[in-house]
Amino acid sequence: MKQYVFGIDIGGTTIKCGLFSSAGEILDKWEISTNKEDEGKYILPEVAATITTKCAEKNISQDEIEGVGIGVPGPVTDEGVIVVGVNINWANEKHVKAELEALINVPVSVGNDANVAALGELWLGAAKGAKNAIMFTLGTGVGGGIIVNGKVIAGANGAGGEVGHCTSVPEGGNLCNCGKKGCLETVASATGIVRETVKYLETTEDASSLRDLENLEAKDVFDAAKANDVVGLKMVDQLGFYLGLTAANLATALDPEKIIIGGGVSKAGSILIDAVKKHYQLYAFSSVLHTEFVIAELGNDAGIIGAAYLAKNN
Ligand code: ZN
Repeated sequence: MKQYVFGIDIGGTTIKCGLFSSAGEILDKWEISTNKEDEGKYILPEVAATITTKCAEKNISQDEIEGVGIGVPGPVTDEGVIVVGVNINWANEKHVKAELEALINVPVSVGNDANVAALGELWLGAAKGAKNAIMFTLGTGVGGGIIVNGKVIAGANGAGGEVGHCTSVPEGGNLCNCGKKGCLETVASATGIVRETVKYLETTEDASSLRDLENLEAKDVFDAAKANDVVGLKMVDQLGFYLGLTAANLATALDPEKIIIGGGVSKAGSILIDAVKKHYQLYAFSSVLHTEFVIAELGNDAGIIGAAYLAKNN
């Protein structure tokens, strides 16, 4: 009987692995380091090896495995091809599904890591039970995922769900890592929040506790706002505008049940949600005015959980 799925989350330094029951219970969780040598050619063989080892350890036969799901850092097509994986030294197109299936002989499903994390939140996290959701992951960069009828939108080029590269600052925006200017990522990532705050402090005289800090972090900006610091409040409101506007435009087009905010920045909690909602309601279409905003719940496990869901539902 097919009763197990594996969820794998390939990152730049570690590969997170999970063994799940088909019902979604985590039975085991472990990590291996990402071997990026020789253009990352050892990564998939080492994933295959760790799965094989775990099966032997747990006495699981191949017939009992429903599938393996994998999240990879880069655009992924519906055919399971990653177009390019900069963080893991995959310079060219890689047929992850075909290559891994040849190594382990069970069905493999592949998705972009941020998209897969959104699926995890949908299955067992903040959007449990929903079928339509938009997720923003606010970390060093801004990733995300768009889920329609329980399926991630991969798009024509595997770049579906790249919400962080929606243009939020149409004029005079900062250069983004993607080569474009004014992306949401440039103002709503942890890096962007700090840069915007430093810029504001340099160009104004407003009194602020933030002026006294040496290594300003995004968390400091939220903490200052919670303490009613004028600049802290101003920067959180500005973030709320950029994120709220983008969320309103996407929600107006997609009509999701939930909008999930995850990543390190989301630890700010209700002050962030309130700021986003304030602006969201100014720009959203009437039908989606009351769409629920939720903070992601699964943290670092979202990737392996979403990957397991992908394996189950392909
Ligand atoms: Zn960009």
